[in-house]
Amino acid sequence: MKKIKVGVIGVGYLGNFHAQKYAAMDHVELVGVFDTSIDRAQEIAAACHTRAFADYHELIERAQAVSIVTPTTFHHGVGMECLAAGLDVMMEKPVTVTLDEADQLIELASRQGCILQVGHLERFNPGIMALEHYIDHPLYIESQRIHQFNPRGNDVDVVLDLMIHDIDIILSIVKSPLKAIRPLGSSIVTSSTDVATAQLIFENGCVATVSASRIAQSNVRQLVIHQKKSTLIVDYGKKDITVIERSGAMTAEGYPEEEATHLPFPDQGDALKAELLHFIDAVQTRQQPKVSGVEGRQALALALQLIDEMKEHQVTHNL
Ligand code: NAD
Repeated sequence: MKKIKVGVIGVGYLGNFHAQKYAAMDHVELVGVFDTSIDRAQEIAAACHTRAFADYHELIERAQAVSIVTPTTFHHGVGMECLAAGLDVMMEKPVTVTLDEADQLIELASRQGCILQVGHLERFNPGIMALEHYIDHPLYIESQRIHQFNPRGNDVDVVLDLMIHDIDIILSIVKSPLKAIRPLGSSIVTSSTDVATAQLIFENGCVATVSASRIAQSNVRQLVIHQKKSTLIVDYGKKDITVIERSGAMTAEGYPEEEATHLPFPDQGDALKAELLHFIDAVQTRQQPKVSGVEGRQALALALQLIDEMKEHQVTHNL
């Protein structure tokens, strides 16, 4: 079978990993990388035994698919050029800065018959994938993504930086339109929101509470899904998956009759490798990917709406 010719545009922190994963795939040829820092492109190209391009148009001519891992402000411009050239695109998250930009990418991808996948990596988190089988009708979801401060990523609000991952997961789990949102957030150490919480109320009655922080002292990443007959808990940090099943009856002491099972956290949990293999599979089979441009846009739309409404409640601190 012919190898799929892939390029990576933007090889900073995350793009480096995209390049490494592609370079290690037997059925992929990493034809080259491009970065506005030629030194960085050469460093990554040398490590991945590929070519560094000084002009990304030359890379586009040689590739049939690309990962775009530039800062988000460049996703739209670079993406439009790649799609116009007929390339399949793996776009890092968030898909774009604005909804208009996302719409243009989705429309062009559809017109060109190109694959457009968005890098919502957590969908490929082995903990989440292990739970898929147990999710039927979520009633209440609690998600926490609490991180220590990291100077990278602070060009955007914590909602676009971190919370968007949980927004995407929750939208993919709760198959119902949203009825109301109640977001709150504060800017503490940067000029944009650093801690945020939101209640998402769905038309089917499900409620999700989502919390994100990038100024915590330690990291917590947990997702809890309550259903009538079960509660599902993924603790990504402790690598623990717990399924609590309820019979519906009460014990003689008045507790709900339930049984907890700890599932093994899948070892081979390389979410990025799984995500990029899924993209390559979509390129080969021409099937819609699990996280399409449309789903990337949905997560962006809700994130932007939360940010907008948060502003209404924010107090300017002149301390
Ligand atoms: P980064 O700053 O480390 O890397 C960006 C790289 O792009 C830099 O090397 C820079 O020189 C290069 N660059 C800038 N403009 C360019 C252009 N026009 N063309 C080509 N290269 C250009 O940033 P990062 O942390 O790697 O983030 C990159 C993207 O990945 C962002 O969209 C970010 O939101 C996303 N991201 C996603 C996740 C995830 O979990 N899915 C995690 C981190 C970052």
